[in-house]
Amino acid sequence: MRIGVLAVQGDFAEHIAILRKLNVECLEVRLPEQLDDVNGLIIPGGESTTLSRLMSIYNLREPVQAMARDGKAVWGTCAGMIMLASEITEADPVPLQLMDIGVRRNAFGRQIDSFEQDLDIDGLDTNGLEPEPFHAIFIRAPVVMRVGDKVKTLAALADGQSVAVRQGNLLATAFHPELTSDTRLHQYFLNLAAVPAGPSGQGG
Ligand code: GLN
Repeated sequence: MRIGVLAVQGDFAEHIAILRKLNVECLEVRLPEQLDDVNGLIIPGGESTTLSRLMSIYNLREPVQAMARDGKAVWGTCAGMIMLASEITEADPVPLQLMDIGVRRNAFGRQIDSFEQDLDIDGLDTNGLEPEPFHAIFIRAPVVMRVGDKVKTLAALADGQSVAVRQGNLLATAFHPELTSDTRLHQYFLNLAAVPAGPSGQGG
């Protein structure tokens, strides 16, 4: 099992550190052909307008879309979530349109409005114990405005807004699990990556 982390912009190093902690082989992905050598891809947080531009310049858009459609697991965190959306509330960035979700960028305001929140997340491994909340860090975070029929909300804020969603082999979180010491969401993603969804990309 080898996991790629898109390493053109944003906090890819933090994702890699967590994957190493889980003893997973990882690859910093900057070239399209590197995607052939991974079982799954994480698109990290950062700045989605820059990420979008760099993905175009590095010719990474189509290969990422193809791997997702082939059933490989793809996880977007924060700016990465924005990139996975079908539509966002503004013209820039241009999302990859892989998940049937509509997303609003900077939904909670400016940098100063960043916050931390304990969340109940569906499907995390509890090791047979009572489920523990996940301490989620939101930094100029997006929110899911529209959840398509095939998309499952895994976690929502108290007001009902979805902040973690899954569609088959695709996972998106509005917050930054790579900035905590909690490895459960990375483990959840590894489980998705271990069982490819098949060419429709809609399994699970
Ligand atoms: N606000 C950023 C954007 O719109 C996302 C922030 C983040 O990834 N922490 O791209």
